[in-house]
Amino acid sequence: MGILKKLNCCLCKKELRVTRRTKLQNGEYICDECRRATHPYAHLDRCNKEEVQSMILQMQKDEKLFEDNKVSMEKVHFVCGIHKYTLYTDEYEKVFVIDTIETEMFKYKPIFQVNQVKAYSHINTEKMSVNDEGIRYVTIVAKLDDKGKPRIYYVKFLYDNPKIQKVKIRFEATYVKEARAFCKALNTFIQKNKVE
Ligand SMILES: [Zn+2]
Repeated sequence: MGILKKLNCCLCKKELRVTRRTKLQNGEYICDECRRATHPYAHLDRCNKEEVQSMILQMQKDEKLFEDNKVSMEKVHFVCGIHKYTLYTDEYEKVFVIDTIETEMFKYKPIFQVNQVKAYSHINTEKMSVNDEGIRYVTIVAKLDDKGKPRIYYVKFLYDNPKIQKVKIRFEATYVKEARAFCKALNTFIQKNKVE
């Protein structure tokens, strides 16, 4: 009869709207509200329902940890127009938290372990690298427009987690100074605290 099957969020069971849903690995969907509780950089197409559920629980635990320790963490703050970028670092726990354009839509801030950051080695897929001094864990790359001018800068790093493999923090081209400073601050922290 051609009646469209109604789809529901596999976590909260809410009925889904076509434009507001995320597909999981096995073809099930979650709603935007549930997506907001997951990791901002997660590849949900590589997760099943159970993995998403445990990711949300982990995010809630991380958020609690972050809220409890936030005050004592080192903070670097960048203002880029209407957007604020904050890097929180904790030398004792060897973790950092990023609060950026990408994370502000999400419920919980992601906590990253320094030792799970891998040196970034896939920059050759990009058109340009603006930061090439020595070994870098965090790299800044530019996305160029038709005329070869930088349109957007990404501060990128690879993360050793099959569900969160690549982290890309976006900066408008006018904020290259801030993007570089963010990249440098993160690199310095990782280089200082990473145990080889
Ligand atoms: Zn839901």
